[in-house]
Amino acid sequence: MLRRVLLAAAASPRLRQLITAAPATRAIVDSYVAGETVPDAVRVTRALRAAGLLVSLDYLGEDTKDPAQATAVTDEYVHLLARLGAEGLTRGGAAEVSVKPTAVGLFLDAGTAAGNIARICAAAAEAGTTVTLDAEEHAVIEPTLQIAAKLRAEHPDLGCVVQACLRRAEADCRALAAHGVRVRLCKGAYSEPDAVAFTARRDVDRSYARCLRALMNGPGYPMLATHDPRLIQITESLALLTGRAPDSFEYQMLYGIRPTEQRRLANAGARMRVYVPYGGDWYAYLIRRLAERPANLAFFLRSLGSTK
Ligand SMILES: Cc1cc2nc3c(=O)[nH]c(=O)nc-3n(C[C@H](O)[C@H](O)[C@H](O)COP(=O)(O)OP(=O)(O)OC[C@H]3O[C@@H](n4cnc5c(N)ncnc54)[C@H](O)[C@@H]3O)c2cc1C
Repeated sequence: MLRRVLLAAAASPRLRQLITAAPATRAIVDSYVAGETVPDAVRVTRALRAAGLLVSLDYLGEDTKDPAQATAVTDEYVHLLARLGAEGLTRGGAAEVSVKPTAVGLFLDAGTAAGNIARICAAAAEAGTTVTLDAEEHAVIEPTLQIAAKLRAEHPDLGCVVQACLRRAEADCRALAAHGVRVRLCKGAYSEPDAVAFTARRDVDRSYARCLRALMNGPGYPMLATHDPRLIQITESLALLTGRAPDSFEYQMLYGIRPTEQRRLANAGARMRVYVPYGGDWYAYLIRRLAERPANLAFFLRSLGSTK
């Protein structure tokens, strides 16, 4: 309930202005975001790689309605991939990129977004790595999956995301559990109506477990994006039961969340990828992280009220 209210309130320009201008916000942003520039992103990637972790970089921003902005975001990804490649960080897909379709033009038209994503896929292939299309609000899931299906003809390693909170999730997992297809499974970070989504936490968790089973039993490449200890345990058990090799699936977590667990999994021989956002447009990302964690939210609201 609190999560829904916060996600709705976050759309208010006044709240946005208050939060982005508050001095206390910076420290919290820094704990979730790698910095603002490509050199920041490369520096953090290098450190995570040195610790044995895989990386997916996200250039922050979404909901673009300006074609020039969609092109600029695409250019940023192409530049980032070239830098990562030049540093040897993309070898074997060690560092890849995550792209939000609405950041590269999905709200303009699907053709523009598909063209920009194809350019990013070509730059990723050139650097020897992959692209994953993030999942956003439910209204853009179908066009996102259609773009992914179309582009997979040329870029079979283009990954996509299923949000377990959506009622369609299990069917999507079964449809996507095809040979070699990279599918990230997450709970879902957007506030969605009952008509299309499970809204009770336990129903979302149960849906996640069903989707997990469908992906782990299939011939694709599952990417299990969660910090939830119970779901990680279920994944470990399913990997044993289904006889999956440790390099045939991966865990994923967000930068700054449960770093000790990230290292534990990597040290135990699992493929563990950290999703690393960078860039100046962090507001929507920060709000989603605060909404997931009431303890962080309370701390944040207290610091907003302080004058230091
Ligand atoms: C790699 C990755 C990629 C993602 N991509 C997408 C996407 O494309 N589309 C999308 O809608 N969502 C995406 N998400 C977000 C996801 O949908 C969830 O909103 C988010 O991961 C929280 O869910 P959870 O599975 O960690 O479970 P939760 O039940 O939210 O959390 C489980 C436990 O994790 C810890 N935890 C969770 N969040 C925080 C936090 N903010 N701060 C500190 N501790 C925390 C706590 O210990 C908590 O008890 C992604 C998540 C990850 C990890």
